[in-house]
This record gives sequence, C-alpha cells and structure tokens, in this order.
Amino acid sequence: MPLHCAACGRPALPERNGVETFVDYRGIKWCPFCAAIRESNDGMRYVAPPSPGRLVEASLDDPLVQWDDCYTYRPKKRIVVAKARTEIQRAWELWDGDKSTPNAKYVFFGWLSRFRPYFLTFRCKGDPWQRVHSWIIQYEDAREAR
Ligand SMILES: [Zn+2]
Repeated sequence: MPLHCAACGRPALPERNGVETFVDYRGIKWCPFCAAIRESNDGMRYVAPPSPGRLVEASLDDPLVQWDDCYTYRPKKRIVVAKARTEIQRAWELWDGDKSTPNAKYVFFGWLSRFRPYFLTFRCKGDPWQRVHSWIIQYEDAREAR
C-alpha cells in the first residue's frame, strides 16, 4: 500500500523534476508540506517534534489516524509501566481479533489506540508500539512454556 501524508493526504511519490514529495528523517518519512521541518546551524534538515505530516500506510478513511497525526494528547493520569504491561497482556488474551496473521500484533495495537488508550499512557522514551510488541511476545513465550 503506498504511503501518504496523514495530515493532507498527498501520496509519497518518487522525486520528479527535483520536487521532493517526502522528507526522510531518521528512517521516518514526512510530508514536506505539513511537517515541522527545520534547518540546523550546519544546514542539516530535521523534523521538530511534535510534528504532523507523518507518512502512513493506514487507510485514508480512518479518522483516528488523522487526529493522531494532528494532535498531541496529554493523559489525565498515566498508567504505571508494570500495570500497563499486565493490562495489555490481558487485553491481548481477551482480544477477539485474528491472532494468526503476521500483522496481528500491529492490528491489536491499533485496537488499543482506539478502545483502550489509557493502557498506552505509560511513560516511554521510544516508540510505544515497540514496547507493546515486546510485551506481547513475552506473554506468548510464557504461555507456550506453560
Ligand atoms: Zn501533508
């Protein structure tokens, strides 16, 4: 599925006539029209977080993707990490989606974003998806060992 900007919907196309259609910053592609692109003193371009305009694969008709791209949410109260791990593993156990597909964990992460956003308010320096992904793998490994 081709990438497009979550904020404006423009597709990321190969460069044409020197006109760039996306900016690659630390392995993430951003829309040159929407992202908060800055230039450092030594001429390096970077994206200043938080920024809209991330290129996504998700379907254009999912409004959560656009909202998530446009707004920074501030949780009323953060869940503690240990509790988030337990709750997310429990939610994975109870989740009635198809767990046999290769991208099931990512689909589940999307489900959490929509239906259990509190579980994703834990403090996390990196990408919360990576953390959730490892928790599910740990859970599955422990279950197989039983
Ligand atoms: Zn855009």
